[in-house]
Amino acid sequence: NFPTCTSDYYKFDDLLTPEEQAIRMKVRECMEKEVAPIMTKYWEKAEFPFEVIPKLGALHIAGGTIKGYGCPGFSITGSAVAAAEVARVDASCSTFILVHSSLAMLTIGLCGSEMQKQKYLPSLAELNTIACWGLTEPDNGSDASALGTTARKVEGGWVLEGQKRWIGNATFADILVIFARNTSTNQINGFIVKKDAPGLQATKIENKIGLRMVQNGDILLKKVFVPDEDRLPGVNSFQDTNKVLAVSRVMVAWQPIGITMGVYDMCHRYLKERKQFGAPLAAFQINQQKLVQMLGNIQAMILVGWRLCKLYESGKMTPGHASLGKSWITLRARETVSLGRELLGGNGILADFLVAKAFCDLEPIYTYEGTYDINTLVTGREITGLASFKAAP
Ligand code: FAD
Repeated sequence: NFPTCTSDYYKFDDLLTPEEQAIRMKVRECMEKEVAPIMTKYWEKAEFPFEVIPKLGALHIAGGTIKGYGCPGFSITGSAVAAAEVARVDASCSTFILVHSSLAMLTIGLCGSEMQKQKYLPSLAELNTIACWGLTEPDNGSDASALGTTARKVEGGWVLEGQKRWIGNATFADILVIFARNTSTNQINGFIVKKDAPGLQATKIENKIGLRMVQNGDILLKKVFVPDEDRLPGVNSFQDTNKVLAVSRVMVAWQPIGITMGVYDMCHRYLKERKQFGAPLAAFQINQQKLVQMLGNIQAMILVGWRLCKLYESGKMTPGHASLGKSWITLRARETVSLGRELLGGNGILADFLVAKAFCDLEPIYTYEGTYDINTLVTGREITGLASFKAAP
């Protein structure tokens, strides 16, 4: 059984609207009862749990904040708590849905034409079609704005040529949102590429130690033709991509919150149940100190994440706010989960006890959607007015 939620010590629920509380409880119940029991075997095999897609689809959380087009139209807080509840039980599931929803669907929602929104969003919201989002390349990771994939204008469309790396859901996505450099303007444009487009190839990246269920892929684009109607009219420079990333980083910040809550819940139960030296592990001062440190971190993480949502909802959130939220929360989560790993002793390295799995899953989250360092530099630039991304000459 998945442990009961014991981490909401400062009664975060009281800060949520009834609708947000209802989303939270609905997702929690489904994840605990229907998804938790089958996750470890898929994680071990590094296979995607396709049987989970209808369960997540029925929750109706994909598309999060997008209004209309069959999407839920949640507040960003509602969408964030849903993401956290998925992550509390399984980080790979939450990455799957965030790539699909907060990156791909949001890009179509923010930068797509009316026709593209009508055509793609309803079926993506139902999870009847699945999307991925391709920005990173083998030679352009943190420095994504230097991307080298090209888009050349031809009659009736565009020809895409290049490579992408690390793209979540790439091996089975029905549609791929791909960013490429327009060879005429030298600016970044966005495209919707169908999975059966001739010249497109996606290969799974093997041997990951975290988010093992997420199917990250290398994508090869060899003269892939994309019709004019599938160019996203709202992506005309890297700044447009950054607009999507700023919103998506709010959602990603809630992933480590959820993961850490699940780890705390597991540790809390474990320490009360297991005995050593004739007493429950929870009776030892050092163990209580670690548990309280974890709980304190979680309260602070939740409140930073919540404030980030409120800044977004009031139109005051800046890219620096989002980057600080993502980087600071992820750092605290890494610290918290490693305390949890210690508390479980030997069982802290077994995937069956959730904590080891979460410990590994946090590593890629620390790195994706801007590494800890890159997000720090985004905030640093905002508070000083000085960019320090480039090495000194
Ligand atoms: P690098 O850029 O090579 O960085 C290596 C190290 O150098 C890091 O510690 C970094 O912080 C540091 N560094 C780099 N530049 C600077 C600098 N200027 N100053 C200080 N330090 C610096 N991408 C997508 O487009 N779509 C996806 O769906 C997707 N999913 C992902 C899933 C996983 C599991 C992973 C691991 C990655 C995913 N990514 C995805 C890619 C991810 O966003 C990149 O891995 C990330 O941006 C870092 O790029 P890199 O791995 O090339 O590291």
